[in-house]
Amino acid sequence: MPYEVPPLPYDYAALEPHIDEQTMRLHHDKHHQAYVDNANKALEGTEGADRPVEQLLGGLDAIPEGKRPAVRNNAGGHANHSLFWEIMSPDGGGEPEGDLAAAIDSVFGSLDELKLLVNDTGVKRFGSGWTWLVHDGTGLAVVSTPNQDSPLMTGDVPILGIDVWEHAYYLKYQNRRPEYLEAWWNVVSWAAVAERYDRAVEK
Ligand code: MN
Repeated sequence: MPYEVPPLPYDYAALEPHIDEQTMRLHHDKHHQAYVDNANKALEGTEGADRPVEQLLGGLDAIPEGKRPAVRNNAGGHANHSLFWEIMSPDGGGEPEGDLAAAIDSVFGSLDELKLLVNDTGVKRFGSGWTWLVHDGTGLAVVSTPNQDSPLMTGDVPILGIDVWEHAYYLKYQNRRPEYLEAWWNVVSWAAVAERYDRAVEK
């Protein structure tokens, strides 16, 4: 079955003032749609077409070489953005609870330390990409990927990811990526992030 852009689970304007309505409309309806369309086109007629996107990204070697770059970029874009919409909420912000909170304190010292590291990693990503909190099989770690590469490509499970492509913030923040990253934590859905963490730990 071809991939589809999942509906946004809140209104386009719901993340204002931190993320503006126009950015959300373009980002979800145009950018994500383009990744989905191009992924479907690249996968047409391959056996990858019927695989869940997470599974596909974990085994890109199975994709014919000529199609691999297009699949990597666009299926990666689809997976990354599907996660991104899901881990934001108009009722976001605050602090995580439970096992995730304990793991963050134990690995990074505090939530503030984690935010600093995620933001710094995002600021240092040259060009376009993502800054991530992942579960690497042994515990939590912060990593960055270029372009639309997914942590799944190297066997990590993405728990939280922030899009640092200019299309994610330029209309409101222009060149001020650090300001966007700081504001982003006001819309993080810790409930959704904790759910992803629990699933990763159970594996
Ligand atoms: Mn994006």
